[in-house]
Amino acid sequence: MGTAYISLGSNLGDRLANLHRAIRLLDSSETRVTHVSRFYETVPIGATREPVPLYINCVLRVETTLNPEGLLDFTQNLERTCGRKPTFRWGPRVMDADILLFDDFVIHTERLTIPHPRMIERAFALLPLAEIDPDIVFPNGVSLRERLENPEIQEQTLVPLVTEASI
Ligand code: ATP
Ligand code: MG
Repeated sequence: MGTAYISLGSNLGDRLANLHRAIRLLDSSETRVTHVSRFYETVPIGATREPVPLYINCVLRVETTLNPEGLLDFTQNLERTCGRKPTFRWGPRVMDADILLFDDFVIHTERLTIPHPRMIERAFALLPLAEIDPDIVFPNGVSLRERLENPEIQEQTLVPLVTEASI
């Protein structure tokens, strides 16, 4: 059984409903959702061709019998089931599901990089992750607590929603 952390984001349609649906779909026979962070409204980062709406993001902890590639297949199917259509890079999407961490694996294949390469610079991934497990140390030895103290992370705007996330 492996433990993974997955970041979910939605900035198109009924964003809350999209996230709740994705959480329900992830909680399946092969992958159990054990923790859900609070939901945060976040300003999109990354240069895009046109302005994109605000995201709602959260992070889940899952226990899974799948291997990392299998979990990626699962999350990519989930994105399609939720109605994600191809668009430009970092464009609006109904669902984005990124695997942040999977046990202590370090993976670099054409379709999968773990830990997620841009997680370390994203408050919308690190803050919810710390809510679930503040003691995480990344495979390269850097601690999550250390990263959260970084000014680059602290200056990012992240608004927790009052709505409670639930499995
Ligand atoms: P970013 O990677 O900056 O968060 P994104 O999530 O918007 O961007 P996507 O279009 O969702 O990018 O994914 C692009 C590709 O990233 C996918 O086709 C997938 O194969 C690859 N990928 C590599 N590592 C991961 C990972 N850890 N989790 C999810 N997808 C990954
Ligand atoms: Mg993605």
